[in-house]
Amino acid sequence: MKVIIIGGGIGGPLLALALQQRNIDCTIFEARSQDALDGGFVALAPNALRVLERVGVYDRIAKQGWNYEEFQMLSSRNLNQIAAVLNGSQKKYGYKALRISRGIVRQTLLEVLRERDIQLRYNSKCINIEETDRSTVVATFADGHTEEADFLVGADGIHSRIRNYLEPNAIPKFSGQMGIGGSLERSKLPSSSQSMYMPCLILGKLNSFMLMPCTYTGDRVGCFATVESHDRSREEWSKLQTDRPALYKALQCHHQDEHWPDVVHAASKNIDESSLMLWPFYKVPELTSWMSRTGRVILIGDAAHAMPPTGGQGAAQAHEDAITLADTLASLANKEVAHLEVLRKWESTRQERVKKILAFTSKGGDMRKSSVSTFRQILKEWTMWAYFLWLGPDAGLSWIYDHDTKRDVV
Ligand SMILES: Cc1cc2nc3c(=O)[nH]c(=O)nc-3n(C[C@H](O)[C@H](O)[C@H](O)COP(=O)(O)OP(=O)(O)OC[C@H]3O[C@@H](n4cnc5c(N)ncnc54)[C@H](O)[C@@H]3O)c2cc1C
Repeated sequence: MKVIIIGGGIGGPLLALALQQRNIDCTIFEARSQDALDGGFVALAPNALRVLERVGVYDRIAKQGWNYEEFQMLSSRNLNQIAAVLNGSQKKYGYKALRISRGIVRQTLLEVLRERDIQLRYNSKCINIEETDRSTVVATFADGHTEEADFLVGADGIHSRIRNYLEPNAIPKFSGQMGIGGSLERSKLPSSSQSMYMPCLILGKLNSFMLMPCTYTGDRVGCFATVESHDRSREEWSKLQTDRPALYKALQCHHQDEHWPDVVHAASKNIDESSLMLWPFYKVPELTSWMSRTGRVILIGDAAHAMPPTGGQGAAQAHEDAITLADTLASLANKEVAHLEVLRKWESTRQERVKKILAFTSKGGDMRKSSVSTFRQILKEWTMWAYFLWLGPDAGLSWIYDHDTKRDVV
C-alpha cells in the first residue's frame, strides 16, 4: 500500500510517523519551503499527548514546553478566581497538559521524520487530484509533476484544496472572534504578579486575556486577547498579520474601555513585537463526508474540521485523526477486507467525536463573549462559578482528555 499525504503541518507528519510504524509506505508533500516558520502556541491536552507517546515523540516534545495541570479563570475586576479546571493531570489522565510553541512541535516532528527516513518534499503544492479506474489517486503539483498512490490524505489545513475537491461549497465560516498576542519574558511582568498563578484566563466585560507560560522553565509567557471582530478577506487578514505596529496598537486598544489589572497592561505593553500574531477564529462547516465516494481520498485535521481554539482541541483532534487513520489503513493492508466499509466506520467514529468537541468548543467561545453591562459581567462570573463548582475539578472534561485512540481501532 502506498499513501500520499498532502500537507506537512501537524497532522501530516503525525500520520506519516504512524504509517511507518505500521510498515506502510508514504510520502508527504508540503507547499511551503523548508525554512517556513510557524508562529503562536498550542495547548496540547492529554488526549493529544497520548498520541505523541504512541508515535514515540512525547518525551522529546514535553521537554520543550510548560507542563501544567490546573487552568484558572479570573475576573478582570479584581483578579478573584471564578473557576479552576484540570487541563491535564498526571494522576487522573497519565499526562499533564503542555503549552508549547507550534513551531517547536512541528520542527520536532520534522526532525523525527528525517531521522526515520520518511520522505517530505517541500515546495510541492498540490493543485489537482484525480481518481483513476485503477483504484488509485493521481496528484498533480504546481511544478507539473504527478504522483500516484492507493490513497491520498488531505492534511492541508483550513484552506484545504483537497476538501475543495470533495466539497467545493464548504467554505470556512468566521466565528466573530480573533486572537491577538505573542510572548514576553516573565521578568517583564510587574513584580506584584511574579508569583501569580499561570496559566490563567482573565475574563473582562468586553473580552478576555490569556497568560500562559510557554517554555519548560516558565521564563517566557505567551499572552493573547480574544476580541470580537468583523470578518475580512484572506488578503486583508494576511496584510494585517504582517503589520506588527497595527497589531501592537490593537492589543493595547483592546482594554482601553474598561478596567483591567496591571498585569494585563504590562504584558500588552512589554510584549515582544517580533512575536506578535493575529489569529481569526474560523470553523469549517460540517462536511457530509471526509472521504471521496471510493474512499481513496481522505481528509484529516483542520482540512476536515478546523475549529476555534476556545476548546484547546484543534491540534489534538488532528492528532487523533492521524493515529486512528493509520490504524485503519493498517487493518486494510493486513487483511482482505472491504476497504470502504472499514473506512466509513473510521469516519463515523471520528465525526461523532469531533461533533461533541465542537459543541464544547462553542461553549468556550460563548464564555469569552462581551457582556452588555458590568451587572451582566458579574452575573456571568457568578453563573460560571456555580457551574464549575457543580462540575467539580475535572469540569466534566474527562471524556475529552481520557480518550485513548487504541480503543477506536476498527
Ligand atoms: C496561532 C495559532 C494558535 C493555535 N493554538 C491552538 C491551541 O492552543 N490548541 C489547539 O489544539 N490548536 C491550536 N491551533 C490550531 C492548530 O494549530 C491546528 O488545529 C493544527 O495545526 C491542525 O493541523 P493540520 O495538520 O490539520 O493543519 P496545519 O497545521 O495547518 O497544516 C497544513 C499544512 O498543509 C500545507 N498545505 C496547504 N495547502 C497545501 C497544498 N495545496 N499542497 C501541499 N501542502 C499544502 C500548509 O502549508 C501546512 O503546512 C492554533 C493555530 C494557530 C494558527
